[in-house]
Amino acid sequence: MRLDVVTIFPEYLEPLNVSLVGKARARGRLDVRVHDLRAWAHDKHNTVDDTPYGGGPGMVMKPEPWGEALDSIIESGEGRPVIVVPTPSGRPFTQELAVELSEKPWLVFTPARYEGIDRRVIEEYGDRLDVREVSIGDYVLAGGEAPVLVMVEAIARLLPGVLGNAESHRDDSFAPGAMADLLEGPVYTKPPEWRGRGIPDVLLSGHHGKIARWRRDEAFRRTVRNRPDLIERADPAAFDKKDREI
Ligand code: SAM
Repeated sequence: MRLDVVTIFPEYLEPLNVSLVGKARARGRLDVRVHDLRAWAHDKHNTVDDTPYGGGPGMVMKPEPWGEALDSIIESGEGRPVIVVPTPSGRPFTQELAVELSEKPWLVFTPARYEGIDRRVIEEYGDRLDVREVSIGDYVLAGGEAPVLVMVEAIARLLPGVLGNAESHRDDSFAPGAMADLLEGPVYTKPPEWRGRGIPDVLLSGHHGKIARWRRDEAFRRTVRNRPDLIERADPAAFDKKDREI
C-alpha cells in the first residue's frame, strides 16, 4: 500500500518510522511518502495561507499550493488514490472505515492547519477522485497531522503481514463478526497473582466454550457501562438470550 501525506510540518510525521508502521515500511509492506506543502509555494516566504473571504478570525490554506501538490503526487503514481481529508466536520473515522481504507492500494492524506483548506480544493478533486472528509472525534485539534497518525496506525495494523499474529485484531473492540457491537472485555497475563489480585478461575479452566461465554459476558458488561449507545443502535438479533440476562 502506498501512503502520501502533504503537510507543513513533515517532522510531525516522524512517528511513522517507529513500531508497527515503521516495521511495515522497513519490510516494504507500506510505502510512506511525506511531502512538505511549502515546496509548492512560490513566493519568498513560501506562503500557504491567507485571510478568509467574508472576514472572521483565523487564516485559510490557499488552493494553489494544494492543487500543485496533489497534481504532482497523483501524476507520480499509477491508478487513482483515495484522498483522505482530516477535518472535524467530516464523517467519523470508525473501524469499519479503517477496514475499507486498508483495502485500497493508495491513500493521500491532506492534514491542514489554521481554519482548514479552501473549499474549492475538496470540490476540484472530489469531481474526479474518491475524496473522504474524515473526523477522528468530536473535538478540534490544531492540525490534521495527529489525526493522520491515528488513521494510518489503525489502517496499517489491518494489512496482511503487518501484525505478528494476523488473528490478533479479530477479537478487538469494533472488529467485524459476532462481537462487532461489543467492546473487548478485560485481559490478563502471568503471574496468576499480583498484589493479592488473582485472575478469573474460568480463564484457567481450559474449557474453550466457557471461556468464550465469559469473554462475551464481560464484553457485554463493559459495553453497557462505557458505551450504551453501541447496544442501543445494534440490531437486537446480534444479542443472544444470555446477553439479555445481563
Ligand atoms: N475551523 C475548523 C472547524 O471548526 O471545523 C477547525 C480547523 S482545525 C483548527 C485545523 C485542522 O486540524 C483541520 O483542518 C483538520 O485538518 C485538523 N483537525 C482538527 N480537529 C480534527 C478532528 N477532530 N478530526 C480530523 N482532523 C482534525
